[in-house]
Amino acid sequence: MLSNSYVKELQVVQEALREASQLCRAVQDRVAITKGDRSPVTIADFGSQALVCRALHAAFPEDPIIAEEDSTLLRADEQKELREILGLHLEAIRPGTSLANAMKWIDYGNAENYSDRFWTLDPIDGTKGFLRQGHFAVALALIEEGEVVVSGLACPKLDKEIFLAAKGSGAKKGQHPLRVSEIIPVSHARICQSVESGHSALGDIQRVAEHLGIGTNRIQLDSQAKYAVVACGDAEIYMRLPTGRAYIERIWDHAPGALLLTEAGGRVTDCAGKKLDFSCGKGLENNRGIIATNGKVHDEILEALTTLGIGG
Ligand code: AMP
Ligand code: MG
Repeated sequence: MLSNSYVKELQVVQEALREASQLCRAVQDRVAITKGDRSPVTIADFGSQALVCRALHAAFPEDPIIAEEDSTLLRADEQKELREILGLHLEAIRPGTSLANAMKWIDYGNAENYSDRFWTLDPIDGTKGFLRQGHFAVALALIEEGEVVVSGLACPKLDKEIFLAAKGSGAKKGQHPLRVSEIIPVSHARICQSVESGHSALGDIQRVAEHLGIGTNRIQLDSQAKYAVVACGDAEIYMRLPTGRAYIERIWDHAPGALLLTEAGGRVTDCAGKKLDFSCGKGLENNRGIIATNGKVHDEILEALTTLGIGG
């Protein structure tokens, strides 16, 4: 399992995610500051990004990293207290870390553009979940020639083990290989969806479910923990349907989970059945919405979307 040419990458991912998830679990101070795009960010987002980018940079200094955060907000005069608390959390995991180093590590994640080999990181995917004591993930992937080749997810509220995948070599949780469920027919399928109604059109998911004879029970989770649940065989479908706003999905919200699920035997496309295109930079510019399944029910979901005129 996972014995392939990405041995070093997998080791670095696993160790980096372990450190980051330790920091996230230690941060009790779940206070958010608001970014320019009005989304929240916390000490844990900055700490997680610092630790993961440090580890990647130490092991693969040439590799660009496209990560969600940067240090601009943290450097502002009024964030002195936040900087000090961040320093204490980093010190607990990496003794001797200076704040100058922390800022430098965070900004290793400042790459903007596509390249032939790069990493993408969401230091806390599901920050809104994290703030509600709900699910969140530290999500990391390596992309080569536009293909996701290595990925890792730490989902501390779902499982203490790290989820890892490498292209062509399978997916695992700790030492356990992952395999999607065999459940068919589609009317028996279990659906995962966002908690936040602003992130996915939950009413449209309900219409698709009704059309396919699926009941009203939903597994609602923040973050890419949804991909992990389908990869483990505990649900069959993760649907993320466009809310109508001109939102472009971010690569760090899908690259890690998508490889995990496909390596567990599942299938991931957009609402039109198109492969996710990770070659555009930060955004999935060529895709609309996300359909992630155990593979067996995938075509029926795509057909339902077409019939109902949803997701276009
Ligand atoms: P989830 O926890 O699955 O609901 O997704 C969390 C992610 O949703 C965050 O990391 C954001 O990048 C992303 N997000 C923010 N706004 C939107 C939106 N309007 N539509 C879809 N995703 C969004
Ligand atoms: Mg995210």
